[in-house]
Amino acid sequence: MAAFAARLAARLDERRREDLLRRRLTLASPQGPRVVVEGREYLNFCSNDYLGLASHPRVIARLQSAAAQYGVGSGASHLVCGHSAAHHELEEALAELTGRPRALLFSSGYMANTGVLTTLLERGDHVFEDRLNHASLLDGGMFSGARFRRFAHNDCAALEKLLARAAGDRLVVVDGVFSMDGDSAPLADLARVTAQHDAWLMVDDAHGFGVFGDNGAGSVAAAGLSADEVPVLMATLGKALGTAGAFVAGSELLIEGLIQHSRNYIYTTALPPALAAATLESLDLLREEGWRREHLFALVRRLRAGAGELDLPLADSRSAIQPLLVGAADTALRLSAALRERGVLISAIRPPTVPAGTSRLRITLTAAHTEEQVDLLLEHLSDAWRAL
Ligand SMILES: *Cc1c(COP(=O)(O)O)cnc(C)c1O
Repeated sequence: MAAFAARLAARLDERRREDLLRRRLTLASPQGPRVVVEGREYLNFCSNDYLGLASHPRVIARLQSAAAQYGVGSGASHLVCGHSAAHHELEEALAELTGRPRALLFSSGYMANTGVLTTLLERGDHVFEDRLNHASLLDGGMFSGARFRRFAHNDCAALEKLLARAAGDRLVVVDGVFSMDGDSAPLADLARVTAQHDAWLMVDDAHGFGVFGDNGAGSVAAAGLSADEVPVLMATLGKALGTAGAFVAGSELLIEGLIQHSRNYIYTTALPPALAAATLESLDLLREEGWRREHLFALVRRLRAGAGELDLPLADSRSAIQPLLVGAADTALRLSAALRERGVLISAIRPPTVPAGTSRLRITLTAAHTEEQVDLLLEHLSDAWRAL
């Protein structure tokens, strides 16, 4: 008898014992500052819809009109007959916004990251990743067959030592904004160190794109780094842009190489074209509604000032991600449950997503929140924290 069932049951038991079992919420409402779960309304502080575009009327209307024009499904992969004018226009707009010669759409960030890493890297190469990188980057590094090392978080000196010791082709990979910590990578320093050692730098800007830089062009643009300094730029569309999918931006050679050789690009159905059109609307809104980013940053400052007064231990972050550091997994879980009782949704992030002993509540703010909602959050956090 195959051991699969017994193995699955044992793993589930272990998760349950360690307070690490995950549960899904089932939403009956759009994303927004208020969401409905099991008939009850909650204040939502766990969405990555940083600009509040996921249910923006213009983005919805564009999705609808584009569905009327293109239908729903793309019908095929990009290389067969699934590549539409809407996909093409979006790729050109993303290349322009990020200041890269070309951009290429992927169905998701996970696919883009594992696709890029398995296409670029070969056995014998080296890949160096920040130890707090997103799981999709770590997985891509492992799947690639290259020699894979992690370096201490944001530690350029540690990276430099690894680069100096390694012979062969080397790729350095970091998150622009770290997804569970909210802090930013020291991109200018990383670009300098990688260039000094003739390596390439790849940045995953899932949480910086749309938020930082002029018109939301992202962390790499905010750091003023060119396509030579950051040859591989990746970002997702399901977070600040409010839609779905991801893209890689870079040189003509990089993009053509991915089109020809990335199995994650070739062997999968293209995103629905209407989603690409909706994302074009999000890009227009990035330009036209700059107040969204201003408002988001004002809310971040308000939350941080309030948390400081209340002695709540927020991680050091300027982004929309403002983790409250708790420590033990069961404490994080109890705090999250206490907030839920009070009508506030914030998920407890526990191992293996974060290192043991660093469980946290991952608070995220969006441009759709109001100042009053942030004040309410502080009040509930403070009460729940002290009740513990
Ligand atoms: C969300 C995320 C991804 C994955 O993107 P999806 O489109 O959700 O698959 C990749 N990298 C980072 C840093 C992320 O936060």
